[in-house]
Formats: sequence, C-alpha cells, structure tokens
Amino acid sequence: KASLVWFRDDLRVADNPALLAAVGDGAAAALYVLDEESDGIRPLGGAAKWWLHFALEDLRAELAALGIPLILRRGAGADVVTAVAGELGAGAVYWNRRYGGPERAVDAAVKQGAAGAGLHAESFQASLLHEPWTVRTGAGKPYQVFTPFWRALADRNFRAPLGVPDAGHGFGGPLAGSDGLGDWSLLPTAPDWAAGLRQAWIPTAAAGHGVLAGFLDGPVADYSEARDRPDRPGTSRLSPYLRWGQLSPFQVWAALAARRGQLPGSPGPAVFGTELGWREFCWHQLFHHPDLATANLRPQFDRFPWRQPGAADGADPAGAGAGAAGAEPGSAAGHLAAWRHGRTGIPLVDAGQRELWHTGFMHNRIRMVAASFLVKNLGIHWRVGEQWFWDTLVDADAASNPANWQWVAGSGADASPFFRIFNPQTQAKKFDPDGRYVRRWVAELLTPDYPDPLVDLQESRRAALDAYASIK
Ligand code: FAD
Repeated sequence: KASLVWFRDDLRVADNPALLAAVGDGAAAALYVLDEESDGIRPLGGAAKWWLHFALEDLRAELAALGIPLILRRGAGADVVTAVAGELGAGAVYWNRRYGGPERAVDAAVKQGAAGAGLHAESFQASLLHEPWTVRTGAGKPYQVFTPFWRALADRNFRAPLGVPDAGHGFGGPLAGSDGLGDWSLLPTAPDWAAGLRQAWIPTAAAGHGVLAGFLDGPVADYSEARDRPDRPGTSRLSPYLRWGQLSPFQVWAALAARRGQLPGSPGPAVFGTELGWREFCWHQLFHHPDLATANLRPQFDRFPWRQPGAADGADPAGAGAGAAGAEPGSAAGHLAAWRHGRTGIPLVDAGQRELWHTGFMHNRIRMVAASFLVKNLGIHWRVGEQWFWDTLVDADAASNPANWQWVAGSGADASPFFRIFNPQTQAKKFDPDGRYVRRWVAELLTPDYPDPLVDLQESRRAALDAYASIK
C-alpha cells in the first residue's frame, strides 16, 4: 500500500519526518493542497504566491530524484487529503504540524475523516524547535515575555536534523490526477511586478542551504553589531527559506552550533540564535492567541482613536483604502497610499517601502521604523500595515508578521511601549550613517521630485502620545 505525505509549510526533502515516515512504509506519494476554501485560512499574498510557485517546482524536482511523484490539488484540505488517499488506495497519511488556528482545525478534520476511512494519520514536529503547548511558565501558563521563554527553551537540546530518504520508495501504482502548477496562476502576469524579486532571490532549498553556509562563513561573526545596519550585508536573509520550510530550524540550529565552537569570544552566534528564538516566540503567541493578526493582545488598544483610511464605517481597517492612489493628499487614505509606495518624504521609511516593493523583503530595523511611522506618526491601525506586509513580503509569516506589528504598536505581548516612538531621522544617523541604504532606494532624494514630509515628526509624535493618553 502507498503512504501519502502531505506537504504544507515544509517544502523540503531533508529533515522531513513526515516524508521519512511515508517512505518507511514502503512506497510514498506526495501531495500539496492549495487551500483557499477552508474556514479562516488566510489567502496568501502576491509575493508569497510568487515564492510558493518556485518552491513547489523545486520540491517536485527534489522528490522526482527520489522517485516520488508530487500531486497538486486545489480545494478544502480536509476533503482533498482523504479523497486523494482514497484514489491512491493509500493506507496512511503523514504531515508535519502547523500551529495556526484554522490550519489546526483543518488538520483535526483530516484526522477525523481518516479515522472514519480506516486510514492511518500521523503528524510530526518539524517547523518549530518547540511544541507551543510544552513550554509553560512556573504557573503553567503560556509565556508572555520573551527572555524567560527563550531561557526555558534554549537550555533544551534540540534534535539533530534528519537526513534525506533513500531513493527507490516512489509509489509505482496508478496516480491520482494532479493540477498543473501553471493552472494555479501563482505568478503575476499583467503587470509582471516580479522582476525585482527574480533579481533578489533564488527560491530553492539548495539556494537556502547556500545562503546559510555563506552567512555562517562570514557575517555571523559580526552579527551582533552588523544586524542593525541596513547598509551592510549583516543579516542572514534566511527568513523566506524558513517561512516556506525549505530550511528547517533544526538544520539552521545545528549548523549554527557547529560554527559557534569555531568563533570563541564572538557574541554573534548566540545573538543570531536568539533571533531564531523570536521566531519561536511569535509562533508561541499565535498558538495561544489564534486571532493574533486581527485582535490587540492588550484590549485597551481597542479604544485607540485610529485614523480611518477611507472606509466610512471603519469596519475593516485592513481592507480600507486599498485603491487609494487618487486619494486626497492630506487624508488618511492619501497618507496610507504614500506610505505604501515610499513617497512619505521621510527618506528611511521610503527606502524601506521601496525595498519591500522591489524585492519582497525589508531589513528588520527598517521594518520597525516604517511600521512605527505608519502606526504612530500617521495614526493608522497596525492591521492596515500588517496586511500590506502580508501582501508584499516573500517571508510573510502568519505568526511573525502580526506579532511584530503588535510589538511595534505596543498592543502585543512583551511589546515595545507605545510611548517609545522611533525617530526615523535619528535612526538613519545611527544605522545608515553614510546614507548608503537611503540613496540606493531613493535616488531622487536631493531633487525637487522628492516629496516634502507628509507630517511634522514632532507634532505627529505629540498627537500620538495624546491619543495614547486617552486610552490609558
Ligand atoms: P536575521 O537577522 O538573519 O535573523 C535570522 C532569522 O531569525 C530570520 O530569518 C527569522 O526567521 C528570525 N527572526 C529574526 N528577527 C525576528 C523577529 N523580530 N521576529 C520573528 N522572527 C525573527 N519575519 C518573518 O519571517 N516574516 C514576517 O512576516 C515578518 N514580519 C515582520 C513585520 C514587522 C513590522 C517587523 C518589525 C518584523 C517582521 N519580521 C518578520 C521579523 C524580521 O524583520 C525578519 O525575520 C528579518 O528581517 C528577516 O531577515 P533575516 O532573515 O536576514 O534575519
């Protein structure tokens, strides 16, 4: 009998326990479901779809080298998985766990359906170093503060990464039908906005391993300082590979541990390890607060007087003002459009937003500055910014994106306090001292084409603090 391995956010053949289990049974076939139907599953953004297309193409080739076919289907996960298992006459289905609320509901429904159909269903830990329900405070609660969370976790010995299965375990029987990848239209056509993404990224697992090796060979040694410098190649740029599971956190952790011994005295490896810890912490939060992307973790922020960019009723801030290109210049919709397109007149913010639009990525320090400017200086709800990042980031992550937006807004767990408002000019002096990063993205900086600042930084800061005082 065949076993089915259901791929999700784990698009790799190495360190993949679900794949190893399927192969261990004898013959394996693989499935990926594009699920835009199940309740609450968040539709992928444009940049994410672009990455997914190539990640699936790459996975298909890696699986083919092992003799394992990859079946592509569109539909509600719970229906498709049991249907395909039935079509193949499979005896078992395996997957690696996901931790979002709607995804867990789908997985539970698959387990239930499988039990009814006499199909063995089993899931594994592969995408996080910790299982969110296993790490608890002394009082038995989920962690709300990062430092003790990471202390509790970093003491644990994470398992070593698993190998690639041997070839020769492909399912030889009659295959279930598959969509063509092209049928899914994951790539933009008219207009083709992905030229910058193609220049910036090689979205394959092998490339991810190359990026990891290159980072550990060089930049990790100076990471603790260079990580804040957008004008230098100081960070790993591993986030999309981790997001799509082309690299596992176990692989990154093990490679880091091996390198750490060769860099005695350098704080870089430990600080880098802590950033992987933040990824864990974001997922810890999402697991325990499934509505992290839509609800303030601190409910006092429900009363915050946000400016509404467009929608008269303000019911859906994330969707509001989507087509605000022609909006009134001084209006919230006009400010939002200027922020999205890097025309705020604040050079560091504009550089970041243009980097994002062009490459599907923004340096972490600039994500913080750009997010702070939207939320605090422009007074626009963090959800509106979170949705823009969700649509434009190649690493758009269901946990890290909302958790970091809530961190910046001050509404999240262990968040930066609201009153700590980034000053983009001070940030630029400190972290882009020669203006190299800004000039790279804002070539017209010193010409009349460059807009005046949308708002006065001091005045808007005071207005933000007044608004905050009203909800305290
Ligand atoms: P490195 O500095 O090399 O860090 C290594 C890895 O650690 C990253 O690849 C990432 O997986 C993890 N990491 C680092 N910082 C964080 C963090 N603050 N939170 C969670 N994980 C972290 N990261 C995403 O992966 N997806 C997102 O959608 C996302 N949205 C963000 C939105 C905002 C407003 C902010 C301020 C940050 C966001 N981040 C997000 C976190 C961070 O900016 C990126 O992970 C980082 O910039 C990726 O670059 P890197 O791989 O070179 O990072």
